[in-house]
Amino acid sequence: MRHPFIISNWKLNGNKIMLINFIQELCSDLSYDYQCNIVIAPPTIYLDTAKQHLKNSNIKLAAQNIDIHLSGAFTGEISAEMLKDIGVSFIIIGHSERRIYHKENITDIIKKIVISKKFKLTPILCIGENKEENIKNQTKNICIQQLEIIINTLSIKTLKNSIIAYEPAWAIGSGTSANPCYVQKIHKSIRNYIADYDKNIAEKTHLLYGGSVNIDNAHNLLNQPDIDGLLVGNASLNSITFSKIIKIANKIKFSKN
Ligand code: PEP
Repeated sequence: MRHPFIISNWKLNGNKIMLINFIQELCSDLSYDYQCNIVIAPPTIYLDTAKQHLKNSNIKLAAQNIDIHLSGAFTGEISAEMLKDIGVSFIIIGHSERRIYHKENITDIIKKIVISKKFKLTPILCIGENKEENIKNQTKNICIQQLEIIINTLSIKTLKNSIIAYEPAWAIGSGTSANPCYVQKIHKSIRNYIADYDKNIAEKTHLLYGGSVNIDNAHNLLNQPDIDGLLVGNASLNSITFSKIIKIANKIKFSKN
């Protein structure tokens, strides 16, 4: 069974006090025996503070980005090694906001995957279509193309122990999530595509959904067999809401077994 991941992406939001309160509230609210994998991605500057406040918890940390270099004259950048050094476990790679606003291309994304894996940081690889592609019914092809170039450049083994987050760019921050049955269909085709290369990797790959997830739609999304978790932006800024989403995941994914 794939243990679900519920991942919070704070993007460029929050401050130190808000983060400490968030962690304390989350840890006390989740003191019962939860089984989901919980990951939080505050802004990079707060990762070290978060690590210190997560000492007695299973909650793991993700960074929202890394540089493609390890060291040198790259003002403003943070390396995989530095993130590993402060206890980060996951890296969000290829988020549509980085592709759009920071002009991150597939070459950068591939380099980031390679460097993450080198330091045993698990990539959370974001893929998905934009509004226009969605209207033209190109979602499946776009997702597969985005994966294909990574698999062809590296190898299918790159996806071993990786997490893929299907995040339609049009759903992110829009208040409207993709339809759960539609997401299931896309996830199933992504899994089938990976299975054509390696059935075992396909079976073990976590396919997450992200895009305007909230406490009202989390249940129907997580109820789909190929949705193995959620990447949550806006709704994860509030510890109570985030905690409720984790509890929904726990209930759905573990009561069936
Ligand atoms: C995201 O940015 O990864 C995301 C899913 O954002 P939101 O939940 O706010 O749409």
